[in-house]
Amino acid sequence: MHEVSLVQDLFDQTDAAIHPHAASAVREVTVRIGALAGVDDVLFRTAFEGCKRERGYDAATLTILLEGAEWACESCGAAVVSTAGPLRCATCDGVARLRAGDALILQRLELEVPHV
Ligand SMILES: [Zn+2]
Repeated sequence: MHEVSLVQDLFDQTDAAIHPHAASAVREVTVRIGALAGVDDVLFRTAFEGCKRERGYDAATLTILLEGAEWACESCGAAVVSTAGPLRCATCDGVARLRAGDALILQRLELEVPHV
């Protein structure tokens, strides 16, 4: 299941982001999953719960933000509503580009660190 390797990648990113803090300090991991990212959020959560102990993230809870696909005009930047057929800008007829919704993004980490 490809969500397991995504979760391992997420923990790799988290390891790097929290350095020099320990994984056990992480209380919450928030990710954004795009509608077109090809990631099943239920499987992702299952994989997260299954892998977190071996990676030292026992104390971490997972928050998933689901992001819809967003398109924008390549020429003028106007938002383009997704419909059937080729996507064109209603303002200038420019070609639409996907600007959100195709990625899995590590959004936020919440750590509890001892006061020094
Ligand atoms: Zn346009």
